[in-house]
Amino acid sequence: MEHIQKAVEKLASPRLRAAVSIQTTLLSSLTNLMREEGMMQLLPVMVSPITDPLSHSVLEGSIKYGSIELQLTKSMILHKQLALASGLEGVFIISPNVRLEHPERGSTGRHLLEFSQLDFEMRGRKMEDVMRFSERLLAQAFSDVKKRHEKELELFGRELRIPSTPFRTYDSRDLEREYGPDWERIISSSSKDPVWVTNHEREFYDAEDPDKPGTFRNYDIIYPEGFGEGLSGGEREWEHSRILYRMEKKGMDASPYSAYIEAARMGKLVPSAGAGFGIERMLRYVCGVAHIEEVSPFAKVPGKEIIF
Ligand code: AMP
Ligand code: MG
Repeated sequence: MEHIQKAVEKLASPRLRAAVSIQTTLLSSLTNLMREEGMMQLLPVMVSPITDPLSHSVLEGSIKYGSIELQLTKSMILHKQLALASGLEGVFIISPNVRLEHPERGSTGRHLLEFSQLDFEMRGRKMEDVMRFSERLLAQAFSDVKKRHEKELELFGRELRIPSTPFRTYDSRDLEREYGPDWERIISSSSKDPVWVTNHEREFYDAEDPDKPGTFRNYDIIYPEGFGEGLSGGEREWEHSRILYRMEKKGMDASPYSAYIEAARMGKLVPSAGAGFGIERMLRYVCGVAHIEEVSPFAKVPGKEIIF
């Protein structure tokens, strides 16, 4: 009963109203810039035979349609790549993702079982293009929030900084050498503005540098003040042989991805780079709150009772 009362009180609170109005401004600033850039908006895919394999373990989420098993979307990465086959220069989606994170992630303050990404992909672009564009998106969106939501930010006691660009860039291997496995927390807590961390070995679709095998052309935004990761992206593998090679190297079973692999074999995947901002995490940072659930009306926190 107490849980239900708390959930209802949160829904009825001025803080939640303030958070949702800030979120509305964030989304309109970000997507307007994408439209100005000539990018086209896709509608979300929510179920498909394939989804992002992710580089960390989550509980499996799928539904049955007759005898067919459909995955709940973990991210639209593979669909973004496929959508560029039509000749579109760039695409974006406000994409609902279901990731059944392990219960211990409930205490990180930044994991939900369902969340939304502002996910985008640009044909023929390189990592530096996406990094500069993402910085521009954040600076513009934060400055619009500051202009329009003085009262709401005050309610959260938040002094929001407009980050100066370009953000500082670190290589994950250098950070790991200097700070050990806890580098993300350390670099986040000691920074005033968001920073980039590049070169992560993760999913098969993030491109390996052809000139430096073992180095990866991908990147994360780490928010400052201990808020941690807010965006991940990369240049993509798109050639049939490279996709097969990367899947094999990761020891993946390629068979569930046969249609995607066939599209690559037909030459329909194109070079691209992109990224996805976690919307709830961005809002958490902008409002400066400890837990993402404070700014998310129907938050599902791993390991906690689910009310709405
Ligand atoms: P990923 O490609 O896995 O890094 O996801 C892209 C972005 O989505 C991350 O940088 C986060 O901002 C956000 N995100 C990922 N997982 C979660 C989660 N469980 N809850 C809330 N946001 C998430
Ligand atoms: Mg990530």
